[in-house]
Amino acid sequence: MSLNGKVALITGSTSGIGLGVARALAGAGADIMLNGFGEAGSIETLRAELAAEFGVRVGYNAADVSKPAQIAAMVAETATSLGSVDIMVNNAGIQFVANIEDFPADRWDQIIAINLSAVFHGMKAVIPGMKTKGWGRIINIASAHGLVASAQKVAYVAAKHGVMGATKVAAIELANTGVTANAICPGWVLTPLVEKQLQDRATKDGTTVEHQTHALVAEKQPMVKFTTPAQIGGLAVFLCSDAAATMTGVPLSIDGGWTAQ
Ligand code: NAD
Repeated sequence: MSLNGKVALITGSTSGIGLGVARALAGAGADIMLNGFGEAGSIETLRAELAAEFGVRVGYNAADVSKPAQIAAMVAETATSLGSVDIMVNNAGIQFVANIEDFPADRWDQIIAINLSAVFHGMKAVIPGMKTKGWGRIINIASAHGLVASAQKVAYVAAKHGVMGATKVAAIELANTGVTANAICPGWVLTPLVEKQLQDRATKDGTTVEHQTHALVAEKQPMVKFTTPAQIGGLAVFLCSDAAATMTGVPLSIDGGWTAQ
């Protein structure tokens, strides 16, 4: 399928799942606006490599998605520099692990701002342009934790359940506009976000990261295997295709059977 002529903005695409989604959409022909944190030189190298490998236009915007005004400015800048925002992937996210009674209030605020409120502000900013064009794809990266809970992840689980609710509202409001809104719900994907959890578990238990890698996945997933960022990218490309034109408001699990139990 071809996404030639479409423009995709992917938040948190300097790393992990967001980068996998950016690569897949670029591979299908979409122009890309990257976003996320990192060292300026490495990000410029990444931007230039993506443009050269896939022959598409690739920009970068440094917006901090915990700041609503910066999200709106990023969407406006993408429309100015690349022409529009046809595909919005709300992906940026962070994690923090602690029991509720020990969970720092400022961490709660930060996770809700980045993992949930940014999804609202991103959708709000792109919807008018998508409605005007009569075509759009909103893809929110939720999680298995948008459907079920785990201990010690109160802010993350609450935010991801919130993302599911917001996605369904968008789907209903946009039902007859040519714009769909769906959520991808990954299980374990080996990215820096998970590598930190593995390191913390190994330090706490006095075991190795290798031991924790197997234990972490097996604890939740019948299939003891990580999903890759590229596989999530493949699902995002499918959601942009005509085959998915009437799929909207759906949580798409890609989780090794985690939520089948
Ligand atoms: P990651 O740490 O590799 O990447 C996170 C990205 O978000 C980075 O590019 C980072 O710079 C960016 N980011 C963080 N805070 C930001 C901010 N305030 N403004 C702009 N960008 C910001 O993590 P990942 O595992 O690729 O996670 C991506 C998304 O996938 C998250 O929403 C996460 O909750 C979700 N997810 C991950 C897994 C997993 O197992 N890794 C599973 C389910 C869902």
